[in-house]
Amino acid sequence: MTLRLFDHHIHSERSDGTVSLAERASTVSVRPHGVSDHFPWPGKMRDDDDVLRYLDDAARLGLRVGLEYDIGVAPPLRASTRASLHYMIGALHQLEVDGVRIPFDEAGAFLKGKLASFSERERFGDGELAHRIRERMLAVVRDSFERDGIDILGHGTMSPLAALGDMERAYPADWQERLIRLCLDADVAIEVNEAYGVPHRQFLERAQRMGARFSVGSDTHGPLAPLERTAAMIQAASLPHERFLRGERVRAAR
Ligand SMILES: [Zn+2]
Ligand SMILES: [Zn+2]
Repeated sequence: MTLRLFDHHIHSERSDGTVSLAERASTVSVRPHGVSDHFPWPGKMRDDDDVLRYLDDAARLGLRVGLEYDIGVAPPLRASTRASLHYMIGALHQLEVDGVRIPFDEAGAFLKGKLASFSERERFGDGELAHRIRERMLAVVRDSFERDGIDILGHGTMSPLAALGDMERAYPADWQERLIRLCLDADVAIEVNEAYGVPHRQFLERAQRMGARFSVGSDTHGPLAPLERTAAMIQAASLPHERFLRGERVRAAR
């Protein structure tokens, strides 16, 4: 299945990817895509100057340029820097809950199929902790949408709760609707993420019914591969292609 929708979420060696910007530029003819490296990234993406240099270098090669802004962690960027990017993906990679930092790395690696098992299943199976994680996720996402100029919510349901396996149990319907509502109110598109396979079908169907926009994100750090999982997810949830972003923000500037 060939999907021609614009792929917004692609890394390069300007953060933790293995592919140069020049190589990335050479594959936009295979299928349309941009680049969106992590901000911040140690030694590489530290501040506005690094971001503007990245934008300059990538745009000169003909690439559309975004960032994967680390929600809850990244230092603020100047409004002028944010405005000069073609789009901004916001994504959660960790969460602080009651003063304890919860990294999402192991859960993420498990969801990507890089680990055979998830060692913290028991810890995150605790209903009270799960509840606090969900509430905290909504709070930091809401704060970021208000402040950071996010256009796309990247892998929005990726967390240790997602690694438990049953997405409808990990994320009750009313919580899903609250997250979707936050995206709608801020006109933030919901990413269909190839690497993690999130959000799940019912979430995407709810978002579709509620009128959300969507965005394709392969989240590749290496070679450009076909978007097979994404194509199947879009088809299973019957998401109309015209609801997908096309390499630029549609959100009204604030
Ligand atoms: Zn990410
Ligand atoms: Zn990413």
